[in-house]
Amino acid sequence: MNEAQKKVQSLCKKNNLSSSVEHRVLDVVSELGELSKEILKASNYGKSRYIANEKVKLELGDVLFSLITVANSLDVNLDAALGAVLKKYEKRIEEGSTPDSSYE
Ligand SMILES: [Mg+2]
Repeated sequence: MNEAQKKVQSLCKKNNLSSSVEHRVLDVVSELGELSKEILKASNYGKSRYIANEKVKLELGDVLFSLITVANSLDVNLDAALGAVLKKYEKRIEEGSTPDSSYE
């Protein structure tokens, strides 16, 4: 478990924030929607150039927090998971495809 995961675990435990993993995943989706909305608003729904603001940063933090709660619920080390994905992407790039080209 990385430092961020430990901090989230500590806060959840201290404040008795328990929830099923299914609800935690739904929370990730909900927070992604909120992030999307703030980016849309910050770009006037694509009519102007996006400019980063505090609301977007806070929503990104909400996404990260909720994602970490999912990883903690599943006892997944996010550093290890990211390391494995980076290796997978590097392999795909070496093979001539882009990291997101196979949808896995
Ligand atoms: Mg939010």
